[in-house]
Amino acid sequence: MNIDTKCVQGGYRPGNGEPRQVPIYQSTTWKYATSDEMGALFDLEASGYFYTRLQNPTNDTVAAKLCEMEGGFAAMLTSSGQAANFYAVFNICECGDHFISSSSIYGGTYNLFGVTMKKMGIECTFVDQDLPLEELQKYIRPNTKCIFGETITNPTCTVLDFEKFAKLAHNNGIPLIVDNTFATPVNCRPIEFGADIVTHSTTKYIDGHASSVGGAIIDSGNFDWMASAEKFPGLTTPDESYHGLTYATKFGKGAYITKATAQLMRDLGSIQAPQNAYYINIGLESLHVRMERHCRNALKVAEFLENNDKVAWVNYPDLKTNKYFELKNKYLPKGSCGVMCFGIKGGREQSIKFMDSLKLISIVTHVADARTCLLHPASHTHRQLTDDQLREAGIAPDLIRLSIGLEDADDIIEDIKQALDQI
Ligand SMILES: *Cc1c(COP(=O)(O)O)cnc(C)c1O
Repeated sequence: MNIDTKCVQGGYRPGNGEPRQVPIYQSTTWKYATSDEMGALFDLEASGYFYTRLQNPTNDTVAAKLCEMEGGFAAMLTSSGQAANFYAVFNICECGDHFISSSSIYGGTYNLFGVTMKKMGIECTFVDQDLPLEELQKYIRPNTKCIFGETITNPTCTVLDFEKFAKLAHNNGIPLIVDNTFATPVNCRPIEFGADIVTHSTTKYIDGHASSVGGAIIDSGNFDWMASAEKFPGLTTPDESYHGLTYATKFGKGAYITKATAQLMRDLGSIQAPQNAYYINIGLESLHVRMERHCRNALKVAEFLENNDKVAWVNYPDLKTNKYFELKNKYLPKGSCGVMCFGIKGGREQSIKFMDSLKLISIVTHVADARTCLLHPASHTHRQLTDDQLREAGIAPDLIRLSIGLEDADDIIEDIKQALDQI
């Protein structure tokens, strides 16, 4: 199946007389006839459902669709994108370990890696993702366990050079984890370019309608844990909480997701509600149609902004003049996504005047929605920071993040134009 067909039909193939739509298993638990049957499930000797905190059939069906779409081996849903990125790293990093992340990543992930995980004894070094491979190699330490980046960064809209990052990871016997939220598997499949593990905030384009917070982790199954066995004892040595089974030898390509489910989900419990998984699946059924339109609209808007003399700069990788245009063509030939960022001449004051003059476009924290929306980090998410502190965090004080929706592009442009005319 091609990706568009996978969006519609992946993951779920009902038999004769079974429901056409994925059923919502709104049940915490499953019934068994004998104690032995239940015991085998707890020993991971048999596979089956017993408690929704570990696994639920609705979630598994939707995870299977995402797995097919990303070209992975196994996948799981999580309660949020934050939970997905935390589990993805914490599944292979423990106290005393180190990992490397691009510094241009979503603010929530930046806090998670730089502040919260630091308190757990896991250290993250943030690097400029545009540095050459030889420079990046200098950040690798003996206890470095993975590399992390975003396909298209939120909010700065830069494109990750997968081949360089995959080389950096694999030269050092560690996996590359990529957050593919903005591109979605419709526009980019990081596993094809060497990523080992892919994460998503399904809250964004995958849901697409701002209805449910959720996340996902997809494992390619390609990373050989046993080849770097001393680095990943959690996968390659016996787990005492499962009678001493070893994930990598018992589950092979499924080791990583089995551990994340059987150990992290069991103990930390960030499960997605089956009802939300159902909504996400409805979103996935039209994802390929929506992404095409998001990109088409966004390019039109970006071209308009680029040619308006009140606009200081625009960053949208699909613009021919963009620094990342070549990388975009290489990794995302169909288009990047509907998100761009730009600055208005005159700084904070003019930006606020512009935003307050908008009529169709709304100011929301959300992004990647059917409705066009925007956010000015300096006035909203990062308002406690001075201009210098903002620049240090890699965010220009005048940066406005604009997420283009599915409306008529001319109406979006008209609204931007009348608001720019106010300043
Ligand atoms: C929103 C977002 C997240 C966090 O996801 P939630 O679902 O809000 O927890 C992670 N990564 C990226 C790129 C995001 O845009």
